[in-house]
Amino acid sequence: MVYVLNQNSQPLMPTERYGKVRRLLKEKKAVVVSKTPFTIRLTYISTEYVHGLTLGVDAGSKNIGISVSSEEKEYYSSEVILRSDIVNLLSTRRQNRKKRRNRLRYRKARFLNRVSSKNKGWLAPSIEHKIQTHLKVIEKTLKLLPVRRIVVETASFDIQKIKNPNISDAQYQQGAQLDFWNVREYVFFRDGHTCQHCKGKSKDKILNVHHIESRKIGGDSPNNLITLCETCHKAHHKGKITVKVKRGQRFRDAAFMGIMRWTFYNRLREKYEPLDVTNTYGYITKNTRISEGLEKTHAIDALCISGHPKANQLEHFYLQKKIRCHNRQIHKANILKGGKKKLNQAQYLVKGFRLFDKVHYKRQEGFITGRRTTGYFAIKDISGVKIHDSAKWKDLELLEAKKSYIIQTKGRRFLPPL
Ligand SMILES: [Zn+2]
Repeated sequence: MVYVLNQNSQPLMPTERYGKVRRLLKEKKAVVVSKTPFTIRLTYISTEYVHGLTLGVDAGSKNIGISVSSEEKEYYSSEVILRSDIVNLLSTRRQNRKKRRNRLRYRKARFLNRVSSKNKGWLAPSIEHKIQTHLKVIEKTLKLLPVRRIVVETASFDIQKIKNPNISDAQYQQGAQLDFWNVREYVFFRDGHTCQHCKGKSKDKILNVHHIESRKIGGDSPNNLITLCETCHKAHHKGKITVKVKRGQRFRDAAFMGIMRWTFYNRLREKYEPLDVTNTYGYITKNTRISEGLEKTHAIDALCISGHPKANQLEHFYLQKKIRCHNRQIHKANILKGGKKKLNQAQYLVKGFRLFDKVHYKRQEGFITGRRTTGYFAIKDISGVKIHDSAKWKDLELLEAKKSYIIQTKGRRFLPPL
């Protein structure tokens, strides 16, 4: 798929007519804007044919799934790996500062001298960063494709619907079976996704919901349901074990909505006001995915979220990873013998290369993850698989300069299952 922008960098429909793209580039009627995903910008005034597409977002704390599709066809598919090093880095910084301030003995004692950080709407930096990344990734996608509607999954189940089963809404009119999927997700969440009989000792990862009193008598309400692993569930029904939980004992109401996904959803609505931004729930996605017999990946979940599970899937998807942009630590934390401070950072360019440049090494595509001034670099694939520990810089060919999101094209077939 080649993504096409008009003269003013507004997205047009992408194309698969590679011959035409080649000709346009040759005749200088288009220029290449980005290599991955391959994007061109037309240099002449074009007739604008735009077909509003739907963007599905599978929001998560470790990965984001992105899919842009129409009823018939998928146009863009991507997975983003989020950073998870922020808590650690900030703790290290706090320690370092404490140590340093301790050495400055002439400093006056200070108390409550911070600009209040705990303002309304303040979130921990690790969470704030995840929200920012979600917004940025969506912004990048909207620059590539003419999207009219955005659908986000905000929670795995709908607590309002459980509390008040009579809610009616277009989305809700999908029958009792789907309602049960909702309750099921809630029960799993309430029980911490752990079997309530063996507490996970059986190591069986398949979870069932068990009716404490039979479905006919006790019904499908959450206080009649409990999470059991399949091993315990089967053993119970064969009479081998007895699950000792009485009805109603374990029902407690708690704060259920992930603050991250809700804040993200609200900010998204605010930011893209004229666009149609709606939300959906995980149990609906799961139901769609299973009834369509689709594989479980973040990108495919995003396709289900967009509401087009029958769309023709792309063969490739883009795996993106947010990397650290700056490292301001000047010296290593440990001081060498003789009080020597060792510099923490290498020079900006080593033999013309930067950290996270995308390179070719012996026909393999990878990223520079470590540089030595001797000119021997560590090369890894985007998912962290080692390509070479010390590749000579002369054997490297620069493909793309470092960006804050490194990106690689991956085949669907080779996706590791979750
Ligand atoms: Zn069990």
